[in-house]
Amino acid sequence: METVQNFINGQISESNSQRFSPVFNPATGKQTRQVVLSNEAETEKAITAADSAFPAWAKMPPLKRARVMFAFKALLETNMDRLARLISNEHGKVYSDAVGEITRGLEVVEYACGIPHLQKGEHSANVGTGVDSHSLMQPLGVCVGITPFNFPAMVPMWMFPIAIATGNTFVLKPSEKDPSFALELAALLKQAGLPDGVFNVVNGDKQAVDVLLTDPRVQAASFVGSTPIAEYIYSTASAHGKRCQALGGAKNHCLLMPDADLDMAANAIMGAAYGAAGERCMALSVVVAVGDETGDQLVEKLQAQIKEMRVGPGIVDGPENDMGPVVTAQHKAKICDYITAGEQQGASLLVDGRHLTVDGHEAGYFVGPTLFDNVLPDMSIYKEEIFGPVLVVVRVPNYQTGLELINNHEFGNGTAIFTRDGESARQFSEDVLAGMVGINVPIPVPMAFHSFGGWKRSVFGPLNVHGSDGVRFYTRMKTVTSRWPASVRLEEHASSFVMPTM
Ligand code: NAD
Repeated sequence: METVQNFINGQISESNSQRFSPVFNPATGKQTRQVVLSNEAETEKAITAADSAFPAWAKMPPLKRARVMFAFKALLETNMDRLARLISNEHGKVYSDAVGEITRGLEVVEYACGIPHLQKGEHSANVGTGVDSHSLMQPLGVCVGITPFNFPAMVPMWMFPIAIATGNTFVLKPSEKDPSFALELAALLKQAGLPDGVFNVVNGDKQAVDVLLTDPRVQAASFVGSTPIAEYIYSTASAHGKRCQALGGAKNHCLLMPDADLDMAANAIMGAAYGAAGERCMALSVVVAVGDETGDQLVEKLQAQIKEMRVGPGIVDGPENDMGPVVTAQHKAKICDYITAGEQQGASLLVDGRHLTVDGHEAGYFVGPTLFDNVLPDMSIYKEEIFGPVLVVVRVPNYQTGLELINNHEFGNGTAIFTRDGESARQFSEDVLAGMVGINVPIPVPMAFHSFGGWKRSVFGPLNVHGSDGVRFYTRMKTVTSRWPASVRLEEHASSFVMPTM
């Protein structure tokens, strides 16, 4: 059985931990690898490597750091097919979706290629007579990233390209469910010319994470995962004096107005609810239909489309499937339990995905697309993040009730409105309590040159990931105010004891 190891100081580092976690191919249900669960000493070794590499890397001109990013981007492109297959085989998502996630990560690498410009700081001449001010955006030191299973490529790439390009060193702790991609990243970064120790990978669970959050040499922690863990990461890292951004779970609603183009909306909702088997933090899992007629028409269109969906393995010889399996047997069981609970709590189960089997893949972790109507706000399928292919429809009488429903939910990651009315769209984007808003766009994930992050209990910490917030997160500002005395020309430099005003 292949063991997924660590990558420390430029090479694979064999762990002596006796703890392992199995890694499966979700489409077959077979174990393909095991991943090491690192102990404290191994995690500290990675931090030591990153700490030792920091001074030289931080001093390297940004232009040279950017050139490593350019080479890394080219390598990602050359290796795209192999990498996408690796993701599909460990995560389960279909091949083209795996290509899509690598591409979204690659766009952050492209953004990081512009670091000489992004890290310039500010300059003001003559803030007072003969006095100039400029700011330096300096790297922090060792930064760490703790990432979820659902985007083994994109989420780490939300973090480390900017961290590294700004002159920090990095330790990545990937999800133990699909850990292999992280080692590919490490190998490609080395091939791109990244000095040893600048990027390290430690595989593990809470034991490794706790070392990363408490070691005094670590300056900043980025986390993406579920809300209870995000909250734990934020409070622990903050209590140990670290800068922290922790992105949590979601329950993304769309508000479907009666004037929407319903065909367009139904198509958009299908992809956003069932793509990647609903295992996306920006998956659309709740439709708030305004008016019964809107609700009736929508569920009719969705039911027709669900019948046409192809569910099966992520990699096939013929036409691609629309949706693959979910990540583990435990996760499949959890999703099915939610469906049972929804049924018991009185929601109308229009399409039930619990009993789907895929020919030739009977042991795979497949759950079919599931649709509930007449869902009420106190049901667990409404309140909680299911993270599977389960879409719930809630009916409301008007815009205001729909908006209030969305705003009262615990999570506020993304949201969308479907309408033809500009005024409703404008009002919605102003009043809704969510970090990312789509107008006739079901999954409004910001591009790499904007920043990604939710509101409410979908995020802990003030700065979002990538874009200008990413650069801010991984740098600290130092403002220099300078005067060059022209002692030969000025008559006197008397001491002043009052607050200087210009
Ligand atoms: P998870 O919280 O179980 O795990 C995330 C990471 O935390 C993993 O690396 C895991 O090893 C580690 N971890 C787990 N338990 C821990 C503990 N007790 N102490 C320390 N570390 C621990 O999340 P997941 O199941 O891998 O991913 C799915 C979740 O991630 C969903 O809730 C989804 O919404 C969320 N997510 C959010 C975003 C976002 O941008 N807001 C993006 C992707 C995923």
